[in-house]
Amino acid sequence: MQIFEIEKEIFFQTYKRLGVYIKRGEGVYLIDSDGKKYLDLISGIGVNALGYGNESVKKAIFEQVEKFIHLSNLFVQEPQVELAKLLIELTGYKKVFFTNSGAEAIETSIKLTRKWGKKFGKDEIIAFSNSFHGRTMGALSLMDRAKYREGYEPFLPGIINVKYNDAEEIEKRINNKTAGVFLEFVQGEGGIVPASESFIKKIFELREKFNFLVVADEIQSGLWRTGKFFAFEHYGVKPDVVALAKPLGGGLPLGAVLGNEKVADVFTVGTHGSTFGGNPVACSAGCAVIKEIQNGIIENVKSMCDYFKKRT
Ligand SMILES: *Cc1c(COP(=O)(O)O)cnc(C)c1O
Repeated sequence: MQIFEIEKEIFFQTYKRLGVYIKRGEGVYLIDSDGKKYLDLISGIGVNALGYGNESVKKAIFEQVEKFIHLSNLFVQEPQVELAKLLIELTGYKKVFFTNSGAEAIETSIKLTRKWGKKFGKDEIIAFSNSFHGRTMGALSLMDRAKYREGYEPFLPGIINVKYNDAEEIEKRINNKTAGVFLEFVQGEGGIVPASESFIKKIFELREKFNFLVVADEIQSGLWRTGKFFAFEHYGVKPDVVALAKPLGGGLPLGAVLGNEKVADVFTVGTHGSTFGGNPVACSAGCAVIKEIQNGIIENVKSMCDYFKKRT
């Protein structure tokens, strides 16, 4: 097929593409150029939480496209405010910042942590082995796997990578210099590895003692993927900062950072921003995604979860 050869020739070869030429999607199925139907278990790598062609998401997108597709963040815009309100009502966090992607939500969280830490003379960030936080230099600086990092050195200073799920090790590495601890409560790219109860308990005990930020990367595990809005809810804890993305924009690029009262005043006018962050069409889709999942899909997630666990 010609399109495969063109791709090889004119793209930077960063992706190992599948040899299937998709023409369209329909619910949980993908249909290729020969009309062959596939049950799509890739689901856009965690993005297509509602499958393809969800009517509410499409409607929200079309309606917003008619009004304005982009406006710039110099204006207050209704779709952003609507989605931010939904997120805050659902989670109890105090502040929202919208981004275009997961990696940008992580960058935002790193900057928030650095700036918050400055006030207390804290300049170290702790992150974990086998984690995945994205492909930007900041995100890569949090990670340890050579597969993602090799050749891109040097990375950000002041970041310490500690073994995931090792409560003893974390106790040795956290101290008064610690500004933040970045973690996935369920490691996604690391192999679907949940954090152990004792590990999480230790981190939050240490937060009491040393006062640092716990930053949850819920980009893959959030938005009910584990049956609760955030994976961390299974542990009965409350991180200070949360990064969201993947399914948030219903397939359009959208991420968010949520923060509690501790960090509410860290960013001030002009100290952070994003041209496309919080695009109104993406935010409209985001509102539809949240309402759709709330209205019934979440029950299916829970029963499917029990089914899968029984089968493994
Ligand atoms: C996908 C992912 C990211 C990066 O998101 P992008 O939108 O690809 O930048 C970060 N953290 C986790 C846990 C992810 O799964």
